[in-house]
Amino acid sequence: MILVTGGAGFIGANFILDWLAQSDEPVINLDKLTYAGNLQNLASLEGDSRHIFVHGDINDQQKIANLFRQYHPRAIIHFAAESHVDRSIHEPEAFIQTNIVGTFRLLDTTYRYWKEQKGEIQHGFRFLHVSTDEVYGSLSKDAPAFTETHPYQPNSPYSASKASSDQLVRAYHHTYGLPTLITNCSNNYGAFQFPEKLIPLMIVNALVGKPLPVYGDGQQIRDWLYVKDHCSAIRRVLQAGMPGETYNIGGWNEKPNIEIVHIICNLLSELHPADYHKLIKYVVDRPGHDRRYAIDARKIERDLGWKPVETFETGIRKTVKWYLDNQDWVANIQSGEYRKWIESHYQEY
Ligand code: NAD
Repeated sequence: MILVTGGAGFIGANFILDWLAQSDEPVINLDKLTYAGNLQNLASLEGDSRHIFVHGDINDQQKIANLFRQYHPRAIIHFAAESHVDRSIHEPEAFIQTNIVGTFRLLDTTYRYWKEQKGEIQHGFRFLHVSTDEVYGSLSKDAPAFTETHPYQPNSPYSASKASSDQLVRAYHHTYGLPTLITNCSNNYGAFQFPEKLIPLMIVNALVGKPLPVYGDGQQIRDWLYVKDHCSAIRRVLQAGMPGETYNIGGWNEKPNIEIVHIICNLLSELHPADYHKLIKYVVDRPGHDRRYAIDARKIERDLGWKPVETFETGIRKTVKWYLDNQDWVANIQSGEYRKWIESHYQEY
């Protein structure tokens, strides 16, 4: 049994679907169902007893302690977070409460549980904290990509809150010996991503003829990884990572934002013909917008033998097709239909 937090969100849901496609080991999914949590992402698991959904907050130590007592998970994969940089600029408090305080409470409850375990169970236990490359700050154009020893220089309330949570996880290993693992991954894209993030926002807006807003000069560089490759990396780190270590995860796919938008327009023109490029609209830049992130993924490749399967070209094609084939999913999110769906499918809420 493993415990996943934030499993109704974008990456967490992809992770659970992949996990249960490859293993019969059950998953407890603890999720608060914020605006970003959507149980429809997991609709294909309806009636599958290997997925145990629990509606709850990582700040609720009593609930987490009860889950430990009831299910005895052998590992925690911690995805739950407030994850959108723009929201963190306008309303940072939720980021502090979930990403910092929530991670602390989850760690503290986990530590108490872990301490009571004995022998192999205690030795084999893992707390895997899922984090971001944004904790490292911004890179100049020609600087080498972030390695695991790059200093932390977070620039937004989001990245500062994730950086703080990483440091707490590190401290629980260093001080108390909790067998933790940290992964810092580049930008993800793929199915089930909430349409506030760059790639789904562009696809969804383009399909209804809305402007495609591009911040500043559009030359901000991000490193992109297909979400299923992120999930396979997390599985690999859980299986073979060394407790106390950090692993950077990335796909060696640096691209300026404007190039991403053009790629999406080109793919849409091919799959759903119309002139999408004319919708591109430059807007005032995000305050403090980092210019470049780039991940050096050599450690995970060398030490754990992990490599991504998708190139950006294959992954983005799959993603655009998924949004074209799942316009109901988008419409439900936009109309709030999925809240009604949750209420009708999960009576306890
Ligand atoms: P998301 O916003 O899509 O999902 C977050 C999930 O966490 C939601 O289901 C939400 O309901 C849940 N949640 C929020 N607050 C909670 C709380 N207090 N208690 C319990 N559940 C709560 O996020 P995502 O894009 O899937 O990201 C998942 C993790 O991966 C985050 O920790 C994020 O920092 C990290 N990450 C994301 C990316 C990316 O490109 N999306 C890249 C690297 C790392």
